[in-house]
Amino acid sequence: PPRNSSATRDIATAMHPYTDARAHEANGPMIITRGEGVRVWDDQGRSYIDTVAGLWCAALGFSNERLVQAATAQMRKLPFYHAFTSKSHEPLIDLSEMLVERAPVPMSKAFFCNSGSEANDTAVKMIWYYNNAVGRPQKKKIISRVKGYHGVTVASASLTGLPANHKLFDLPIAGVFHTTTPHYYHEGRPGESEEEFATRCASDLEELILREGPETVAAMFMEPVMGAGGVIVPPKTYYEKIQAVLKKYDVLIVADEVICGFGRTGEYWGCTTFGIEPDILTCAKALSSSFLPISGVLVNDKVYQGLADGSHTIGTFGHGYTYSGHPVSAAVAVETLKIYDEMDIVGHVKKVAPLMQAGIQKLASHPLVGDARGVGLIGAIELVEDKAAKKNFDPARKIAARAQKLCEAEGLIMRILPGDGIAFSPPLVINEEEVALMMNGVTNALDKLAVELRREG
Ligand code: PLP
Repeated sequence: PPRNSSATRDIATAMHPYTDARAHEANGPMIITRGEGVRVWDDQGRSYIDTVAGLWCAALGFSNERLVQAATAQMRKLPFYHAFTSKSHEPLIDLSEMLVERAPVPMSKAFFCNSGSEANDTAVKMIWYYNNAVGRPQKKKIISRVKGYHGVTVASASLTGLPANHKLFDLPIAGVFHTTTPHYYHEGRPGESEEEFATRCASDLEELILREGPETVAAMFMEPVMGAGGVIVPPKTYYEKIQAVLKKYDVLIVADEVICGFGRTGEYWGCTTFGIEPDILTCAKALSSSFLPISGVLVNDKVYQGLADGSHTIGTFGHGYTYSGHPVSAAVAVETLKIYDEMDIVGHVKKVAPLMQAGIQKLASHPLVGDARGVGLIGAIELVEDKAAKKNFDPARKIAARAQKLCEAEGLIMRILPGDGIAFSPPLVINEEEVALMMNGVTNALDKLAVELRREG
């Protein structure tokens, strides 16, 4: 039941994303009042390490004076101007330049939005517009993957391959298809090697393209590591194999780097970790370390030239947001990228990630853990009822939610994933000592859960 007036006021007037409203009314919110480093504090004065950096996003943690200064200075100088019809400003120019310089493959231009969903919606429209401009308007269909997460706006929710994002919304929209999830633990067949599984994923993709007609298939969206769908790290040769198929049928590659970008996977981009060569790249979250909302779409020169010709000959690319490239958000993003350079964010992740991955692998031997996976500073464990049979618990038992509660008692805010997964995606600035605290806390919580479950029989 609500503990104080803030909780009561929240219940009275606020609606929360991805929340069971009736459970919320009964239990009330967890009210977060302040943050510092990798920790946040609730209104009861308890502190937690946030092991998913909010929503995989607060890369520099929950305090940073330089970002405060960058925002304040820009607000004083020019709090707002838009980017429509050739208007521009220094933060937008600086950020475009910095992203193009840092891109994992040669990219030509940057376009800005406010969220990951908007960036992916923008990419979809760019693809349609581009194919019209280059004289193949029928090449419109888009492929993504089952369990992929690309956001919640209508096109992005269609790309997302999770049932909750489609149910009752008449989604996906026509022309969006989902191909096999590259998750060997669940999708691999008995006796099939990881390599053979990767080959099967590529042939599933090819079959889909051939069934729909290659002349109608425009692009495939992919998160280098699938995040919200379960932190799924594909087999080693997966991307090489599926990219060969996409190139064969002239299908554009869109890398959704919304979670993976800016060091998460142990390289600056997930694309670098996995050898992905995108035509279009979307990014958000760590772009501004989430101090302010901003997202970006990078396009290579081939796509840019098509879009540019189109805007000149067939008419304006009729898309853009009031806050595309908002000067304060852009100034904060510029400062964020400078901080990443100065602190060598990739070097830091390479230093602390092995500790976290070793901790995750150690948890693999826990009686409740079926699969343990990850790369860099992203990972997950999956709780199972029967390890040998890879059998998950009955979802009605909400086992991961119980683990999450026990983690809270250990001073950890954890994120649960579909299929009783528990995610690890801490602020990238986490240090070795904090990684150890996080892994110990989760181990204690799982031990307690195992005792409870044994008692319950
Ligand atoms: N793409 C990926 C990979 C994401 O993880 C998310 C959000 O978690 C999105 C897109 C959507 O971003 P937003 O919630 O900012 O719209």
